[in-house]
Amino acid sequence: MSFEVKDRDLLARIGKLRTKSGVVETPLLFPVVNPAVQPISPKRIREEFGFEALITNAYILKKRFKMEPAERGLHKFLDFNGVVMTDSGAYQILVYGDVETTSEEIVAYQEQIDTDIATILDWPTGWKATRRHAEQTVEETLKRARELFQIRTREDILWVGPVQGGRYLDLVAKSASEMGKLPFHIHALGSPTEVMENYRFDVLVDMILTAKMNLPIERPLHLFGAGHPFMFALAVALGCDLFDSAAYAIYAKESRYMTETGTVRLEELEYFPCACPKCSSKTPKEISEMPPKERQVFLAEHNLYACLSEIRRVKQAIREGRLWEHLELRSHGHPTLLQALKRLKIYEEFIEKHSPTVKPSGLFFFSSLGLSRPEVVRHRVRLSERFTHYEREALILMPQTKTKPFHRSKLYKKLGKALRNTLRMEDTAKIQVCFYEAPFGLVPIELDEVYPLSQHETALPPDLETIEYVAAQVVNHISQQNYKIVAFLNNHEVWGEKVLKACRDACQNKGVIFTSFDIEMEEWPGLVADFLKQNLEKQRRGRSAD
Ligand SMILES: [Zn+2]
Repeated sequence: MSFEVKDRDLLARIGKLRTKSGVVETPLLFPVVNPAVQPISPKRIREEFGFEALITNAYILKKRFKMEPAERGLHKFLDFNGVVMTDSGAYQILVYGDVETTSEEIVAYQEQIDTDIATILDWPTGWKATRRHAEQTVEETLKRARELFQIRTREDILWVGPVQGGRYLDLVAKSASEMGKLPFHIHALGSPTEVMENYRFDVLVDMILTAKMNLPIERPLHLFGAGHPFMFALAVALGCDLFDSAAYAIYAKESRYMTETGTVRLEELEYFPCACPKCSSKTPKEISEMPPKERQVFLAEHNLYACLSEIRRVKQAIREGRLWEHLELRSHGHPTLLQALKRLKIYEEFIEKHSPTVKPSGLFFFSSLGLSRPEVVRHRVRLSERFTHYEREALILMPQTKTKPFHRSKLYKKLGKALRNTLRMEDTAKIQVCFYEAPFGLVPIELDEVYPLSQHETALPPDLETIEYVAAQVVNHISQQNYKIVAFLNNHEVWGEKVLKACRDACQNKGVIFTSFDIEMEEWPGLVADFLKQNLEKQRRGRSAD
């Protein structure tokens, strides 16, 4: 196996990819190098910036340099002793309509130049393709993919099998599941560049996850043309392991300065919001006064640093189990990224299934966006599937406390004392205590120490969607269980009336005896205990009368 996963968070992974020129760590960004016009030499990209790999275009090499890269070997030709990946010219087909080469030629050429990671000559679907055209691109790419395994002559090169289909998700699914049957080492999502240029990150979420759900999940996935640091966190979280960036050089040419939250024109900058070795010693004014060529190199170098530092932040977030928090932070850099994050709701069960269950850190819950995170989804599913063996007659619902685990809170201790003083032992055994809380909805007291039910911090008061979510979990629990009596403790200041009302309605519909008290009321512990005593007694009398 050429890919080994070391660490995971959401669908992201830190992994080791083994190639014939060495092992590289993912998530990995390949700067795009065009030997004909290259602002920063490949040697410097490795030695000064620390990039372990780069990508170049086999079609352009072949057209422009003919057999020279084959004779000298690609690594010597580029003067780069890291890992080299080659793209096939697929993007050129998309832009210029056709290329003067064949699939067989491009396969053979990539073997001759001794690339480490090679790409078949796929046929990009593009963004504006009709369905008929999209079907054709999927079929032809699959045909060429199958042919590869007849015509290749070397075993030491990793081959990339691109997934096509564009915005037609059923075609993406078909393309992915057929590609996945072939023995590729790596897969790629074909030509999402236009989707990204149009800021349709919600469509990108659909495309990536459709591919992901239909590909062998253990194989690395490359996202072609994903060159901007402001969307790395999103793409990595969705399970993209490899990226390439031409944007660092293209933007530099247009005097555009990358940041982790977007792009700024050089002339708009009064201060550099970056402390990379380039930006530390210069001011925007000095750079704008430079000759164009020098300015372009300066910006390309800064842009590379900006990409690199975001990749590192994302990796560290995976290590800490805080990728979701990082993703939320980044999604506030642009409304379309936030829209994309909201889109994850549709895929929350798939993401949950492949996310780690235990993490090195607790969760930060900021808003209802966090309701889609795997830990919340997992708790909801497990509670409703597994917490059904209790045949308790009464339920006490308590509001979340600042103290965690909840059973150590003053609120819970007050209740425990009142129950012990008022009820008989056999009656206390008939009572279930649950806390309603954000973001997990409902936490039975027996589970309050299970990760992450007490390892999280929540911004209170919760927003409306979160309150509605919690109310729905309470209603769901009452409808699933056989309680005869429910006592609800409200914390009006934090929760208002919504959860209380939902709970009361659910009880009325089911004929469950219901009461509520506010925790502001000093005598609530005694009142709850008396209410339960009387009603458990009534239940007992009812049973003996039967
Ligand atoms: Zn900088």
